Amino acid sequence: MAHSRPGGHSPFERLRSRYEERDLVCPKCGYDDADGKWLAATGGDRIQYRHLCPSCGYVRRRTFLLGEE
Ligand SMILES: [Zn+2]
Repeated sequence: MAHSRPGGHSPFERLRSRYEERDLVCPKCGYDDADGKWLAATGGDRIQYRHLCPSCGYVRRRTFLLGEE
């Protein structure tokens, strides 16, 4: 299995920048968390994103599997 070194634009970082910049509007209360961001946690072959709405406390989670492009 080949492991490429992260050179600044890995799939992980592309995903990360994409999701930190958008989709910060809470689907539950409609609050636009313009200063917030998705928190990323990596584990094995996946990335888990979490966003906590500061207005209503609703937590959204998303999981991306790496290597499935
Ligand atoms: Zn909310």
